[in-house]
Amino acid sequence: MTASAAATIARENPARTSEIVGVVVETAPEAVDAIVREADADQRKWAARPLADRLAALARAAAAIEDATPGLATLLARESGKVVGDCRGELGFAVRYLRWVVEHAPSAYADRVLDDDLGRVVEQRKPYGVVAAVTPWNAPVILAMLKIAPALAAGNAIVVKPSPLAPLTISRVVDLFDAPVRVVHGGAETGAALVGHELVRKVAFTGGAAGGRAVAALASERLTPSVLELGGNDPAVFLDDAPFTDDAMDRLVMASFATSGQVCMAAKRLYVPSSRLSGFVGAYRAAADRVLVTGDPLADGVTMGPVISAAAQRAALALRGSGTVHDLGRFDGDPASGYFVRPALVVEPDPGSRLVVAEQFAPVVPVLGYSGEESVLAAANAGELGLGASVWSADEERAFAFARRFEAGFTFVNTHNRTGMSLRAPFGGVKRSGWGREYAQEGLAEYVQTCVIHAPAAFRPGAAVTGGGPSAYPAG
Ligand code: NAD
Repeated sequence: MTASAAATIARENPARTSEIVGVVVETAPEAVDAIVREADADQRKWAARPLADRLAALARAAAAIEDATPGLATLLARESGKVVGDCRGELGFAVRYLRWVVEHAPSAYADRVLDDDLGRVVEQRKPYGVVAAVTPWNAPVILAMLKIAPALAAGNAIVVKPSPLAPLTISRVVDLFDAPVRVVHGGAETGAALVGHELVRKVAFTGGAAGGRAVAALASERLTPSVLELGGNDPAVFLDDAPFTDDAMDRLVMASFATSGQVCMAAKRLYVPSSRLSGFVGAYRAAADRVLVTGDPLADGVTMGPVISAAAQRAALALRGSGTVHDLGRFDGDPASGYFVRPALVVEPDPGSRLVVAEQFAPVVPVLGYSGEESVLAAANAGELGLGASVWSADEERAFAFARRFEAGFTFVNTHNRTGMSLRAPFGGVKRSGWGREYAQEGLAEYVQTCVIHAPAAFRPGAAVTGGGPSAYPAG
């Protein structure tokens, strides 16, 4: 019997579909078991090393990724269709996050000791064991790093399954770690074999609703805790005093069209007072003329590349249904070379249309007129998704008061999307946009479990319970 050749995943360049950027070997679902078992064995050794040693290894990885960034950014642009400047930005943000973890892990993961009349309580922050990370294609490096960095710092091993649509750059990044992080390649079946493995003790998923549902179901079958970061349909609400300055409009346009609209927290629905709608459309189109250039992601001056696949291109074109469609910006290059979609603003589409009620994940954005703050708040909060939101106003106090009423995991004031991101702010959605948080202290806490050692004073030689505090032997 001859052994069959391993299956491979060939990744095409979505901007130039005749070009294969690279090939990875697919991990068959049945091969996942051995990889998880190796990770489990490594984890015990890794967790036994002092925290400072583990963090030193992460600091070395940060330096290596930084050194490799120019080449990695080009590779990421070629496999994902994201413009190369954004790819450099993503890698830079991943390095910053890794260093942030190195800086903050010692306090976040330190024991907390409570000594009082009742005795001693020691809270330990213990790793879970093997973490399974399943990640999407649209920001493959940072979205994996948000899991890799805190998981490793805390003493876990981690196995990452990136999207088959962008497997190349993250594989190279993982190779730069001298730590128990591995990659398995493949689609849903490989992901399911990983998530459902008996030795996986924590699951971290970022992606869409269908994948999230499947992963959450598999994890819960084994009672494996999970963190899920899912899609959004972020509203951007302009209050009646919000100025349409060039700067604000430029930021808003890129908040919708960066990565061709394929960003979880893109501004996906715009709401403007009806009386100001035509002024807004004029200002928005002028901004798009200034900042939106669609073309080859590696070319200078291009700010938007293609969408990720032929299916994404078809889905994007199908979104131009009701309403008045304005094509935006200009095209630089040959639109037939890849999966390009002309970015569009759709004015007053049917409020029940797919473009409004669902996550479009495409370079097509609706703008809807409204009258009255209560009605726009109800429209903004409608639906099952609650990732991000933004409110725009000349009056920051008024904007904050409005921001508090959004059903969203995070809200930006007078900006949206990347320009509002902060490493120190927890990130995640409410409602069906997921559970758990990444970034900040909450993101570090996702990768440890608190385990407590009690030494009640009453049982310690020479110690006694004194004072009128709570009983040392509480009922229940
Ligand atoms: P996707 O859900 O199709 O894929 C994400 C990952 O899950 C991939 O690795 C995929 O192979 C895997 N997967 C899919 N089905 C699976 C299954 N049944 N079992 C196991 N693994 C499975 O998402 P995508 O198209 O790559 O990314 C787009 C989606 O991700 C959008 O909805 C976007 O909003 C969301 N997203 C969310 C965030 C966030 O932080 N909230 C960030 C980026 C993207």
